[in-house]
Parts: sequence; structure tokens; C-alpha cells
Amino acid sequence: MNRGRILVVEDEKKISEIVKAYLEKEGFTVTVAQTGQQAISRLKDKFDLIILDLMLPDMDGEDICRTIREDSDVPIIMLTAKSEEDDRIQGLGIGADDYVVKPFSPREVVARVKALLRRAKGAKENISFNRGDLVIDSFRFEVKKSKSPVTLTPTEFKLLQCLAEHPGQVFSRLQLVNIILGYDFEGYDRTIDAHIKNIRHKIEKDPKKPAYISTVYGVGYRFAGQPDED
Ligand code: CA
Repeated sequence: MNRGRILVVEDEKKISEIVKAYLEKEGFTVTVAQTGQQAISRLKDKFDLIILDLMLPDMDGEDICRTIREDSDVPIIMLTAKSEEDDRIQGLGIGADDYVVKPFSPREVVARVKALLRRAKGAKENISFNRGDLVIDSFRFEVKKSKSPVTLTPTEFKLLQCLAEHPGQVFSRLQLVNIILGYDFEGYDRTIDAHIKNIRHKIEKDPKKPAYISTVYGVGYRFAGQPDED
């Protein structure tokens, strides 16, 4: 399953390759840019997080960071060398969310990426759909349907959250099984279909004509609610 898209901006191939490999192993989709220009030309693709080396051949990571911040609050992790102690502080001042000092262990980078993505999600803890009809609060693990609390099991919550965070994206049953196995074992032996049926009974006005979770025949499910503007 795709856990998110990450842009790695780093001119040292050895570093970018190992970071890419570790992140991909964790299910992230990784794009590497070797220069500042390359990075900026990729920005129109939507990334969930950017790992940005401070020292690039053509531009300062700092300038790239400012450029990114002009129209995006995507989480940014700066990579800095030890000798760049001052730049490091500056890195946070110019809008980076975190930094990692070289040499680092790739595992540390992966841990920082996950932590930052969690934090970024927490910042918009409420997602709401269909003009406030369905509200999912990922911080409190609460769901409200027409302003009334709905009680979901942890597995049901995780499934709904995963679908709702990717409106329109089709998930196969196998992908959904992996998501709940990685999270909670309640209902281990039950099928995804049974969970979806339960969720529909809780959040759909007419579970036979679902407005939120659509069946994609022969494939799986997708979220069909309309995200509300912030
Ligand atoms: Ca560099």
C-alpha cells in the first residue's frame, strides 16, 4: 500500500539511494531530485513530505525551502552536515519542520518521516465530508454522522479513515486486509466485506445505496464522499 509520496532532494547518489530504498521498503513512493532546479520542477507533483539537502550544487536548500513555502505547507525535513550547525538552526527558521544531521542512519530518517507525517495529519485532525454530514476525527478516534457520534470498532475506524483519506482511490480487499492487520487484530478472521457492511450500517443513510463507501466490482472499495473545504 502506498503510504505517501516523498521527494528526496539530494545530490549525493549514495545517500539518496539508501534513503529511497529504506522509504520504499516502508511503502512510500519516492522521487529523487539531484539538483535544486530538478526539485523545483517537480513541485507541481503533490508530495506528502520533502527531504531536502541543505547543500546542493546549483542552489541552497534554504532557497528551495523558501520557494516551497511560498505556496505549500508540505512537511520538510532538512539534511545537514555537522559543520553546518548554524544553518541547521536557520533551517528551522526558514520553514523546515525537522532536520537530520549527517551522517545519519536511514532508519532514523524513516522514523522522522513517519513522525512528521503523523504530526502533519494531527494538525488537521478533523476531516469532514458532504457538507459536514460525516466527520472523522483522527485524533480522538471519533466519527460523527449528522452531528451524532457513531461507535466504530478500531478496525472499522481504521478502514474508514484509510478510505476517507484517499477519496476516489480504489483499494483492493487485499490492500485493506494489510491495513487492518498492521493495526488491530480484532476481526482478524472476518472478511473486509463484513467490516464494510458494518461501517455502512453505521454511517450510511441507506446502506444499500451508499453515499460514502462504494463497491468497485471485482476490485474493492473506494470512498465517494465529497471532502469539505477547510
Ligand atoms: Ca549535498
